[in-house]
Amino acid sequence: MQEVRTRFAPSPTGFMHIGNLRTALFEYLVAKAQHGTFILRIEDTDQKRQVEGALAKIYQTLASVGMTYDEGPDKPGDCGPYVQSERFGMYLPEALKLVKSGHAYYCFCTEERLAQLHSDLEKSGASFIGYDRYCRNLSREEVEAKLAAGTPFVIRQKMPDSGETTYHDEVYGDITVQNNTLEDQVLVKSDGYPTYNFANVVDDHAMRISHVVRGCEYLSSTPKYVLLYEAFGYEQPKYIHLPLINGKDGKKLSKRHGATSYEELINAGYLPEAVINYLALLGWSPASTEELFTLSELEQQFDIAHIAKAPAVFDIEKLQWFNSQYIIRKSTADFFRLIEPALQELCGDKQELWQRLQTQQDLLARILQPRLSVLTEVREKLAFLPSLPEYSTDLFVHKKMKTTLESAKAVLADLQTELKNLPSWTETDLHDLMINYAQKRELKNGMVMWPIRVAATGMQVSPGGAVEALVLLGREESLQRIEVALEKLK
Ligand code: GLU
Repeated sequence: MQEVRTRFAPSPTGFMHIGNLRTALFEYLVAKAQHGTFILRIEDTDQKRQVEGALAKIYQTLASVGMTYDEGPDKPGDCGPYVQSERFGMYLPEALKLVKSGHAYYCFCTEERLAQLHSDLEKSGASFIGYDRYCRNLSREEVEAKLAAGTPFVIRQKMPDSGETTYHDEVYGDITVQNNTLEDQVLVKSDGYPTYNFANVVDDHAMRISHVVRGCEYLSSTPKYVLLYEAFGYEQPKYIHLPLINGKDGKKLSKRHGATSYEELINAGYLPEAVINYLALLGWSPASTEELFTLSELEQQFDIAHIAKAPAVFDIEKLQWFNSQYIIRKSTADFFRLIEPALQELCGDKQELWQRLQTQQDLLARILQPRLSVLTEVREKLAFLPSLPEYSTDLFVHKKMKTTLESAKAVLADLQTELKNLPSWTETDLHDLMINYAQKRELKNGMVMWPIRVAATGMQVSPGGAVEALVLLGREESLQRIEVALEKLK
């Protein structure tokens, strides 16, 4: 059986878009599900579109999601180099092979002529706007004279004049195009750089790529690649085009739909493993109804047959659900490590608070893990910690808890003294103190807990109850806040 080899071939032109990462993931999974080889190839021949730092983002992203490539710029294999600009010298000789075999030709048309041609075609309402094949008919002598004179040239692919080209896509089935709709595309530009359309074929063949996986926006270009493979006499790879990713409104995913790059999602508090799990389901469905998969589980279960044609829908709420599932499954220590940056930011220069939070990892995990859909929510959930928010005394009145302004005032006043005298400020002792007090006064627990929690947090809702809030705040701050509440209730 042929070795399965796939490649992720990003161009370093900016952020890692979700669509690109989904493509990378499917390429990785197509390879790994068949014990194949996954390659990283950097497509940087379009020098104008390069963005500084984009390359580093590609490496960081793949590393952070755990998609390890077997060959790549920093992982030598026998098909290197794996950066197209470093393969610069390889493309022109390949194109010249095609000139020699009659599948390509030199074109000396100037930019001005091409611009004029375009505008004339547009004005005339022509259905085909493309190169008019002028140089296709130059005589051998004319070509040689121009080359000898050093006239700048490009090399173009000679498309068949008639007939049609059909190829098989593993997802979309047979795709056919009429050859007269195909432009004699440029293969090598006047600066000697290959076009993407040429380089991808040369490199995919040189790197023995068995499965070409990419977004379905490439469905219509693929006949050109198929014709190039034929012209070279190379064996075709298998083609796997992936469905579009749309927003919930059915439109192509864009900024409008919120975070669209991996980096933005991570900054917004999503976990890499949740993003990967969710992306795997954008265009693929498992045989079972199971939805949660680690990357290695995906490697076991993934199959090409279950890739869908219909556009996938990127639903940020669904991603939040996945994220919450991963958050809840973290160990206490891992969870604390994840929220540490948000906690530190929250504490600012309040060193004492920060130190206390470090000693309350179990408590924090217990009250936060079930309540977070993204990690950054920690900041709003614990907003009451660094300083007491402004609040209205109306908060003390709670129908279900049966609290009134008067009952709240009485409870706070009584407990103020008892709390001052409590020997240790632990969860158990604070809990027992309040429960005993409620029993003694024949009050429902809520009548005691609610006013304390409101006084401590100033918030309608906070993660955990009165006891947790007091522990996180510490004795001194808690007592001060009860004092503030009593002032307000005077
Ligand atoms: N460099 C292309 C891109 O970033 C790769 C397309 C392909 O997979 O062939 O869109």
